[in-house]
Amino acid sequence: MANDWKTRTKLVHSGVRRSQYGEVSEAIFLTQGFVYETAEDAEARFLEAGDDEFIYARYGNPTVRMFEERIATLEGAEDAFATASGMAAVNAALMSVLSAGDHVVSSRALFGSCLFILEDVLGRFGVEVTFVDGRDLDEWEKAIRPDTKAVFLESISNPTLEIIDLKAVCDIAHKVGALVICDNAFATPIYSYALECGVDLVVYSTTKHVDGQGRCLGGVVLGSKELIRKTIEPYLKHSGGAMSPFNAWVMLKSLETLDLRVRAQTATAAAMTQALEGHPKLKRVLYPHGKTHPQVALGKSQMEEGGTVIAIDIDGDKAACFRFINALKIFIISNNFADAKSIVTHPATTTHQRLPDDQKVELGITPGLVRVSCGLEDPDDLIGDILGALDAI
Ligand SMILES: *Cc1c(COP(=O)(O)O)cnc(C)c1O
Repeated sequence: MANDWKTRTKLVHSGVRRSQYGEVSEAIFLTQGFVYETAEDAEARFLEAGDDEFIYARYGNPTVRMFEERIATLEGAEDAFATASGMAAVNAALMSVLSAGDHVVSSRALFGSCLFILEDVLGRFGVEVTFVDGRDLDEWEKAIRPDTKAVFLESISNPTLEIIDLKAVCDIAHKVGALVICDNAFATPIYSYALECGVDLVVYSTTKHVDGQGRCLGGVVLGSKELIRKTIEPYLKHSGGAMSPFNAWVMLKSLETLDLRVRAQTATAAAMTQALEGHPKLKRVLYPHGKTHPQVALGKSQMEEGGTVIAIDIDGDKAACFRFINALKIFIISNNFADAKSIVTHPATTTHQRLPDDQKVELGITPGLVRVSCGLEDPDDLIGDILGALDAI
């Protein structure tokens, strides 16, 4: 039934597990454990837990399960496992499929913590990682070998919004039987196309668009029932990356408004892009559906909409860029994105501060680059705020 519904109906009604009280709003089962009627019941549940039977909240919990079912329905995935944060999801997706001696190919333009896992952690356990320019299909083709076990990528990179041709990369990876893991944060769960393109495991930081109101950390790994239950769950339930029932409840209720919020924020980002393209104080305006994005054709063919984030490059040095940021009156300065509150981030001095200068240049992280996350405020106020601050440089 739920699979025939359209998105907004799924987001309100799927995954509900109503208790004997018939509550309208989903209950928070803030419990670590569960009681068994008899010793025989406990034995049977440990042997095999039924769909409505839980053992311990690190393994699963009714509120967390409601969230997992709702977001799996949205993504069109058979199953999902919710995690304490986006990084717990990234870590679990990699750790549960890799062993010493395996080879991984990853795009280079990654969120800092993802880069840490791939560059620093995996190597310590004897996993070899080859990094490629995610936009260059020849590089993928050359790097992927018969012994490549997994491919990792961010479908749209942070902070310069480079776009990866998911279908082409999946085809190359699947020829050697490698599993494709896609961190899909910037694409958003509303405009996601990852599973259709052939991705095996989709990962989200639900801290971003799903919560979307700056309250809770969370993450999720989505994929086939086989992969989630046989590969991801055993690792996560024993290594302790579970989502708390309270956070799951916040995320579950947030899903009800996700489509409305993401579409409103996207409309603002698209209007903002149009207002900024060609502005004399900007060297670059990067938005996946913006006409000055070098990969706009791929962005349009692959994505229904361009998403909620824009990257702009101020024509000037760090001081000029800081004058722009400090002149903003509505946008807040923070390192998160996809929030109801509009946010600007200066990647070179915050999220990507620790990268060596040559890598910053290679990734396009210039002193003038600002990541602009459009929130739920009135679009005219936001555009006015940015244009006014550009004048103030
Ligand atoms: C934020 C983010 C993460 C990490 O998510 P947390 O919830 O902060 O752990 C991973 N990947 C990308 C692309 C992100 O933007």
